[in-house]
Amino acid sequence: MTHDTDQRVLLLMPTKRDGERMESVLAATGIGFAVCRDVCDLCRKIGEGAAAALLTEEAVTAEHAGCIQAALAEQPPWSDFPLVILAREHGKQEHLRESMNATLVERPVKVRSLLSVLRSALRLRRHQYELRDLLAKHQQAEDALREGDRRKDEFLATLAHELRNPLAPLRSSVHILQLTSTEDPRTKPIYDTMERQVNHLVRLVDDLLEMSRITRGKVELRKEPVELAAVVRNAIETSRPLIDAAGLRLTVSLPPERVVIVGDFVRLGQVLTNLLNNAAKYTNEGGQIWFTATCEGNEVVLSVRDTGIGIDTEMLPRVFDMFMQVDRATSRSQGGLGIGLTLVRSLVGLHGGSVAAYSEGRGRGSEFQVRLPIADGAQAAGFLRPTDQLTSTRPTRRVLVVDDNLDAATTLTTLLRHLGADVQMANDGPTALATVASHQPEVVFLDIGMPGMDGFEVAKRVRMRPECAEVVLIALTGWGQEDDRRRTAEAGFNHHLVKPVDVSALQAFLVP
Ligand code: ADP
Repeated sequence: MTHDTDQRVLLLMPTKRDGERMESVLAATGIGFAVCRDVCDLCRKIGEGAAAALLTEEAVTAEHAGCIQAALAEQPPWSDFPLVILAREHGKQEHLRESMNATLVERPVKVRSLLSVLRSALRLRRHQYELRDLLAKHQQAEDALREGDRRKDEFLATLAHELRNPLAPLRSSVHILQLTSTEDPRTKPIYDTMERQVNHLVRLVDDLLEMSRITRGKVELRKEPVELAAVVRNAIETSRPLIDAAGLRLTVSLPPERVVIVGDFVRLGQVLTNLLNNAAKYTNEGGQIWFTATCEGNEVVLSVRDTGIGIDTEMLPRVFDMFMQVDRATSRSQGGLGIGLTLVRSLVGLHGGSVAAYSEGRGRGSEFQVRLPIADGAQAAGFLRPTDQLTSTRPTRRVLVVDDNLDAATTLTTLLRHLGADVQMANDGPTALATVASHQPEVVFLDIGMPGMDGFEVAKRVRMRPECAEVVLIALTGWGQEDDRRRTAEAGFNHHLVKPVDVSALQAFLVP
């Protein structure tokens, strides 16, 4: 790592006599040196690299000392550049010792003592170089770690995205099987198991995807005033199958008044679902879960308490760490990656809230409390997202499904037909546009990534037709990042659904 310049001593001797004498002393001892014309030259050479400087006191007058100090301030943090100053009288230059690493050698100069001072200056500089090399190595190792971490995050994002694609047709197929399996009662439990497992896979992949987004700072919330009761109802509905399957009782208690939070409906739902699912996973059959929401000042406190296996006191602060599982064997057997609570903490943080875990120890149950700010009157007066009602009205809408993946398109079409819609299918952009003209759909489910004319282009062209102004355009994509959502909104889409789409989400669009 050393360069030639690193070893040289810079020489600044205003008189010819001093200069020649010092040059011959240094040459005789084999110490490499470079002669400086003036202080500016010295400062420039310090910047280029040098081991030390040998100069006379005349060179460090008040004005010159300022220049040298400025050059030294430019040095990297590991550097404490040594200056050896030939001075007629000790004492006058003491201030230099305070502001710089300066050693004074009294004139007339005794060669022996000068060389001894110079050598210790050079030794000191060598130690500084060792420190520099060590720091560089550390930096390299840190860069490599960071790069590895970035690649891992990217890999997780790609993995999660790739896993989503096959899950979409699988999930739709299971729904179709369930809807058509009325004749043979033996098949129902099989399909139910398939649904549970597929849903479980979807949940894991979702968590993975979400976590990788958060670690890469790619999560942006779609904040709007949302009614707490709607978020809770939605979350409970999602977690209900797991709670029932675990043989647990759930008691829900909400505040009597309407509570509005400014937040992302989906992400808040994820927070509560994760806590409820954990309560279900870590509580033995016959246990109890309490979901309670109470208002405390301008905060709402959401508590998920269970009578489950509990958490050791010393582990409590760590359960929110990434990949943390208190008891790996148990956690794994419950199917988990150890990221659910990390996700909870990050999402709650993005909402300006906090989360805490409480337990009196092993076997004594656990409680997770989320605190979120309640919207003030002005915020609450804003648009309220319609709650997640799934009306029983029989849907009769004309629908078009566009996807170049035949499996995905066919299963979604079949599923929508079973849900009562009048569905046509297209596998590319031009066919989609032709079908829009002939079938006049009210709702179009449109895949984004298609060869040739992609979903954005199809959407734009549909929107250009005056008779299609009211058509509900729904983007179907494996990507649910803010950027993607913004682009679909700009292209004229009304909604953006991330594959695999849940049947209840589809149903909501079929209600006229
Ligand atoms: P996992 O995927 O392992 O469930 P989480 O991040 O959701 O990951 O939880 C981290 C760990 O915290 C779990 O592995 C479990 O050991 C512990 N834990 C979470 N919730 C509970 C609970 N309600 N009761 C007991 N332990 C819990």
